[in-house]
Amino acid sequence: MNFSEFSKDFKNLPYQKQQEIIQLLSKQIIDSRPILNHKEKPSSCPHCNHTTIHKHGTYKIKNGDGVKVTGGTRYQCQGCKKTFNELTGTTIHGLKKTDEFREFIELMFEGDSIRKIAKRLSLSTKTVFDWRHKTLESFSGIFTKKFKGIVETDDVIMGFNQKGRKNNFLKIGKRKRGVNNDQDVSVMVSLDRYKTIDLKLVTYGKVTTENLYREMDMNKYNEENIVISDKSKALVKFFKTMGFEHITFLAKDHVHPKYPIYHVNNLNNLVGRLRRWIKECFSSVSTKYLQNYLNYFLMLEILKNDDTENQRNQWWDFMLDDTNTFKRSKSVEEKYQEFLSFKS
Ligand SMILES: [Zn+2]
Repeated sequence: MNFSEFSKDFKNLPYQKQQEIIQLLSKQIIDSRPILNHKEKPSSCPHCNHTTIHKHGTYKIKNGDGVKVTGGTRYQCQGCKKTFNELTGTTIHGLKKTDEFREFIELMFEGDSIRKIAKRLSLSTKTVFDWRHKTLESFSGIFTKKFKGIVETDDVIMGFNQKGRKNNFLKIGKRKRGVNNDQDVSVMVSLDRYKTIDLKLVTYGKVTTENLYREMDMNKYNEENIVISDKSKALVKFFKTMGFEHITFLAKDHVHPKYPIYHVNNLNNLVGRLRRWIKECFSSVSTKYLQNYLNYFLMLEILKNDDTENQRNQWWDFMLDDTNTFKRSKSVEEKYQEFLSFKS
């Protein structure tokens, strides 16, 4: 069948059938996506950030059929003399199982559990766990959409958790009522009425104005935003200093007594979904990896509203371009120790 015949037949199909074919074809595009596509010359050395870089031969990769082909250019840094290629430092650098990895990413977009993915791809759960965290590290910078209009915010308390650690070096006392500085961590949850969300692990213990200054990235906000929250002192002071219009009400009310448009119902729904998701999928998550899981939840929330090839492609490109992933995933433990040291 030639293209014009195909096109004619396609036009005669019922709408539903056309949609099915489009879905199927776009899935095939993903399946044959070259994981190692040619990239631009890196702007700096991934080892030392020096900016004078010279070409240094080429390197080979396996294509989808397992045949070795020229993959791209190698470079040498004129500062530290180390060599690297376009993928050094990215999630997929040095990856052998590229086919499995490609499928792994698609399964991650579906929200499948580590166990399920491991079984399906015949990989160990440890490999899938490592891949997941490396991937989530590389996704940490992609949520850049800005807030519009009203922004509902709250500092949400989650249990401090050392799951997976051999030495439980922190003694945890008996659980008390309210926020416990020893047993809880605080996550700032913010969302506007257009489903743009921000989730940020702020501190070990209770939120204070100081740790909000230190941890909050306010790039999502702009001066037109109206911030809504309960009357938490830390939040009131923080948003006031930041110069925002800030509307508050008693925590038990969830809504402004006079102006019902100022409510935190969307936020409460979101937090409910987040808690259920953690409980159902992981039963609990370790604080060390909590920000990664928050990013993962954010990704799934975005896909729920906008699961398009375009959206997925953007994330693929982002992942392949982020040459700092390796460095960041190496410093997870360091960052965690720093987090613990800021205990309020
Ligand atoms: Zn260098």
